[in-house]
Amino acid sequence: MTTAATRTAPTSSGFGYATGLSCRECGHLYELGPFYACEECFGPLEVRYDYPALTREDIEAGPPNMWRYAPLLPVPADIASRPTTEPGYAKLIRADNLAHALGMRRLWIKDDRGNPTHSFKDRVVAVALSAATEMGFKVLACPSTGNLANAVAAAAARAGVRSVVMVPADLELQKIITTSVYGGTFITVDGTYDDVNRLASELAGEHPDWAFVNVNVRPYYAEGSKTLGFEIAEQLGWRIPGQVVVPIASGAQLVKVDKGFTELASLGLVPPSPWRVFGAQATGCSPVSAAFAAGHDVVRPVRPDTIAKSLAIGNPADGPYVLDVVRRTGGSIADVSDDEVVDSIRLLAATEGIFGETAGGVTLGVLRKLLKDGLLDPDAETVIINSGDGLKTLDAVAGAVDVPDPIRPTLEAFTERYPAVG
Ligand SMILES: *Cc1c(COP(=O)(O)O)cnc(C)c1O
Ligand SMILES: [Zn+2]
Repeated sequence: MTTAATRTAPTSSGFGYATGLSCRECGHLYELGPFYACEECFGPLEVRYDYPALTREDIEAGPPNMWRYAPLLPVPADIASRPTTEPGYAKLIRADNLAHALGMRRLWIKDDRGNPTHSFKDRVVAVALSAATEMGFKVLACPSTGNLANAVAAAAARAGVRSVVMVPADLELQKIITTSVYGGTFITVDGTYDDVNRLASELAGEHPDWAFVNVNVRPYYAEGSKTLGFEIAEQLGWRIPGQVVVPIASGAQLVKVDKGFTELASLGLVPPSPWRVFGAQATGCSPVSAAFAAGHDVVRPVRPDTIAKSLAIGNPADGPYVLDVVRRTGGSIADVSDDEVVDSIRLLAATEGIFGETAGGVTLGVLRKLLKDGLLDPDAETVIINSGDGLKTLDAVAGAVDVPDPIRPTLEAFTERYPAVG
């Protein structure tokens, strides 16, 4: 690694307006490249920028996907014309029925089912792929809890790049099939996500031309989640909501939603207003929630045991930064049981017609818990993120719904079985 980003004037390159990397712990500067940990203190690195002047109109004139925010990401100006899966600009849905059921005033669902592989992971992978290509990597790889494998396999197929993805073997069948279908090399591992992640780190050392999107390309990858914050604000008519509830796996999504809001405010694209960030975990994997409750700054790793597999990271890389964001903004973090997750998946479906995955159930479950505990204001405008699609986690709800036995196709059979329906 070499030190010190030297560019000062905004330059548009394969990394757009990014100028370098900096250590999130000690601030040490690095040039743009395949670096992710600080040589001085081992802290994680983050992308720095020298942004151009940008107006709302510039953004609104962009494509109906996350590349409308290309100037705020480490991607080239012509990214929208390259072969990507074009994620983002997913719907923000006003959830009046759910708000009514919960006694809230204004509630919105940021529905990331709308992405190409039906989860928010398409956003981060799109940025990682661009950076990996720019840095000359030949293979796109990842350790994954499932959704990331889907997104990497699809993005690599579209870009004509080889992929190697690895997941814990006990993953939902839906996520295994929806990864296999894209081709590429698909590896299932006997172990937890954290075991898979450790294997990936070792493989990264062995294969210098493999870009592990969430390991050695992580500083670029993580920036993709800012687009959730950008979109929420733009879709609200260029306003930041008072409260946002975000699921936590590694914690990067939560941290970057906050960063997205912060950047829009500092660029003058939204009026300054306070916001509070809330974090959601499943009780069976709640290391960040536990640290928050105990008032700790460090996050003690756990061994995950929950149906919310997409959030089952026992040693979350961004845990301490999540604690910072939540404490700084005056939010909170809570966790809910698997039964509460299933109940919330069903509530979201029954009130709004949205079938979220287990991560969505975690987020709504935590919203309900925070309301009950008086930690979240029912009158403040609130956005919750549904980060994935229930069709990928069918097993989680299969036991909780009634699948009817068939009837004969006659009126008699109908009235016999359903005397009072309608
Ligand atoms: C990965 C994932 C998350 C959380 O992402 P982090 O940035 O690692 O915290 C949330 N929801 C779904 C559906 C995911 O797949
Ligand atoms: Zn450092």
